[in-house]
Amino acid sequence: MAPTVAKRILVVEDEDAIRETLRYNLAREGYDVLEAATGPDALNVARSERPDLILLDVMLPGLSGLEVCRVLRQESSTPILMLTAKGTEVDKVVGLQLGADDYVTKPFSFNELLARVTALLRRSDMSARPTGAPEIEEFDGFRIDRAARTIHVEEVELRLAPKEFDLLSLLLRNSGRVLSRQAIIAAVWGNRFYGDPKTVDVHVRWLREKFEPFAQIPFRINTVFGVGYRLDRIGAIEQSS
Ligand code: CA
Repeated sequence: MAPTVAKRILVVEDEDAIRETLRYNLAREGYDVLEAATGPDALNVARSERPDLILLDVMLPGLSGLEVCRVLRQESSTPILMLTAKGTEVDKVVGLQLGADDYVTKPFSFNELLARVTALLRRSDMSARPTGAPEIEEFDGFRIDRAARTIHVEEVELRLAPKEFDLLSLLLRNSGRVLSRQAIIAAVWGNRFYGDPKTVDVHVRWLREKFEPFAQIPFRINTVFGVGYRLDRIGAIEQSS
């Protein structure tokens, strides 16, 4: 295998035992691990070291993980994976609203965390280097042609405006996962977008209208109240292969 530059992960966690365990296990997987134990430390390290991904505990001294998330999201699109405590649904929702990319609930298995970390890093690589991504991606019934910027459904071309193309590509690549409005804006419009977040809602509505004529489209864009959107496969429609 060709050597690659190790990805850098910032672990923000005030409980020493958890932080140490994460550091040890992530290092074993080949990641460079940075650590912070307080909210203000997290901001300092994130700004000075520019990690590739941040694992962010919610309950932190100095500044809560949610506040850290809100501040960081205004400054960069570094993927943020929140570590939330069991039974704190509100933290998940607020975290996603504030622009966190995903969350795991404590107690979590390291393998579960690693799967999320890998997925987020892959996603962020794809959005950062679109030229390095495959030109054609296929999802059940959909084909995205990045070079031609077209999306076909069951061989029918959807006529999409540029932002609609970006938005639908993003949703397809993350099908089954909730994407917050902030995460969608960051990915589709960029971090310097200062317009109305309702822009996302409007584009989702346009996409839904474009789906409407095609009963065979095996996906639906569902609204996740208070958070954002999720593309779901419609179970009733199965490919007969
Ligand atoms: Ca904590």
